[in-house]
Amino acid sequence: MERKYDVIVIGAGPAGAIASARVIKDGYSVLVLEKMEFPRFVIGESLLPKAMEYFEKLDLVQTVHDQKFQLKTGVTFYHENKVCEFSFSDRFTDGWDYTYQVKRADLDNALIREVEKRGVEVEFNADVKEVTTSADEQIVHYLNYEGEMKVVKSRFIIDASGYGRVLPRLFNIEKPVTSDPRGSVFAHVEDPNRSDQASNNIFVHAFNNNTAWIWSIPFSDGTASVGIVGSVDLINEYAENEGAKFKEHVRTFPGLEQRFRDAKFLFEPRKILNYAISVERMHGEGYVLCGNSTEFLDPIFSSGVTLAVASGYQAADLTCARLR
Ligand SMILES: Cc1cc2nc3c(=O)[nH]c(=O)nc-3n(C[C@H](O)[C@H](O)[C@H](O)COP(=O)(O)OP(=O)(O)OC[C@H]3O[C@@H](n4cnc5c(N)ncnc54)[C@H](O)[C@@H]3O)c2cc1C
Repeated sequence: MERKYDVIVIGAGPAGAIASARVIKDGYSVLVLEKMEFPRFVIGESLLPKAMEYFEKLDLVQTVHDQKFQLKTGVTFYHENKVCEFSFSDRFTDGWDYTYQVKRADLDNALIREVEKRGVEVEFNADVKEVTTSADEQIVHYLNYEGEMKVVKSRFIIDASGYGRVLPRLFNIEKPVTSDPRGSVFAHVEDPNRSDQASNNIFVHAFNNNTAWIWSIPFSDGTASVGIVGSVDLINEYAENEGAKFKEHVRTFPGLEQRFRDAKFLFEPRKILNYAISVERMHGEGYVLCGNSTEFLDPIFSSGVTLAVASGYQAADLTCARLR
């Protein structure tokens, strides 16, 4: 029997969860196809207050609050002996003055489960392989959890596949960026020596003549995320031998050494390289892109999830207008 929905969303990260919540709000049928089983790890753990606006628009603030994440009220940047502190309450416009530091496995899982309760169908372990689009009907082929190829149709597709970049790859619309290739190595650590002040901010310290930086993001369970962003060569060097140089760097970095000198790593450091990429266009006949499947440049301002929920909302808003 033919399966057909108003909208198919590819990917159940923040962009996909917000997009599907927006579409179901207007009463359209939605199927989310997600390659992984949830909860699943993904990097991108410090939010911006602007993200709260989109959770609020879709009645998802309580879902986020219920996870008891670490409150985030600001950002502290360090460069040599200079310190620059930003408090979100020190602002000139209305809006949220706080947000959260989150383990993405928990945030993404909570959002998509809530959206499921509202009537969105979500199929996990569904790996989208082939897509044909046209003005009226979209056809998606995906491998399901049993390894069977399935076909499903829709009136419109929202691609929220993040680093998977499903439609940009299939439609050959990826575009390189002009910035130098960058990478990152990161892990989670125990964080028992954290001060109160270190609890509410993300800390970003520049090093290597301002060509690299290290982050520390506190979580509410007494652990933290630590990571380095830099050139591909630097990241490869810090990541080799199970991240030996990275671990040493975290334990001895000036300003962080009191906090992390005995840091126990909760998993072996992971690396991600060459993540900066863009697209030729963000929509076409029968589809629109949002979140990281459009473009991602650099995590320095912790803007990725916020841009994902903002663009997921907007892509879905326009999709609903199109369906009407
Ligand atoms: C080193 C680093 C640090 C970062 N730090 C931050 C930070 O502190 N704060 C912040 O806001 N952002 C940060 N980011 C950015 C953040 O990771 C992303 O912007 C964010 O995850 C994008 O969300 P998304 O929903 O677009 O994609 P994702 O979160 O990647 O979700 C996409 C989903 O699509 C699924 N998918 C992929 N391929 C397929 C397929 N073929 N079929 C079906 N499903 C598929 C994936 O399994 C995934 O679940 C960081 C990025 C990097 C590289």
